[in-house]
Amino acid sequence: MKDSNTDHLLICTACGTQFDISDRNVLKRCRICDDPRQFVPPTGQAFTTLAELKKDGHENKRKPLDGDDRFWSIWTEPKFAIGQRAILIKTPHGNVLWDCITYLDSETIEWINSLGGLAAIVISHPHYYSTHLEWAETFDCPVYLSWEDKMWLNRMDPLGKARTFIEGREEEIEVQGEKTGVKALKLGGHFPGSLCVSTYGRLLVADTLVTIPAGLGDCKPYFQISLLFSSVGVWGSGAVSRARIRIRIRIA
Ligand SMILES: [Zn+2]
Ligand SMILES: [Zn+2]
Repeated sequence: MKDSNTDHLLICTACGTQFDISDRNVLKRCRICDDPRQFVPPTGQAFTTLAELKKDGHENKRKPLDGDDRFWSIWTEPKFAIGQRAILIKTPHGNVLWDCITYLDSETIEWINSLGGLAAIVISHPHYYSTHLEWAETFDCPVYLSWEDKMWLNRMDPLGKARTFIEGREEEIEVQGEKTGVKALKLGGHFPGSLCVSTYGRLLVADTLVTIPAGLGDCKPYFQISLLFSSVGVWGSGAVSRARIRIRIRIA
């Protein structure tokens, strides 16, 4: 992969967000980590770059999700930032990347291109904004984000080429006018625009929804889903308590 100027843009090591700044004297804090929904590590705020991550020997791993090769989980080792993962969803009209990870190298690009590249990227919420403009430029595809969360973007998209904002409550991702079957659902909560996607009868939830075992008698096939309403959460000394609304669903 080319050693472009953007390889030297600063990236927060705690949350993986890339900024439009390469001067460490200018960027001292990460606004996403300063927000109570993330955190600044006890060691303080630190920054790296894609160039440094490449030198440090990071690599991306991948595997089909639950053995279903329509879904490929992609993550970075050694673990970087929050340990985010992205999921490549194969559709009849091209691959859609659900969420994004910071690290992108030539091996990952070659593998994704061998599958036909990316037709679109959909990001659940700002904790996955990572290096999405790098990915969008590399694969020449749009990135879908919630309109409500745009204040958390940290890089300019000067030509307005890459980003498409979802303004409604749901939107099916289309490629050249064809529906992909990947539907973004705006549930809010964790962030006002927090998204899930529904496709092939599965719901991909990021941390918009959290599943916990019900743990009651004969309820094995049931899980409880908690909607995280961080806006009514109580924040203190780094600990987060979140109000939860529990919905019982049957896993088919
Ligand atoms: Zn950060
Ligand atoms: Zn989050």
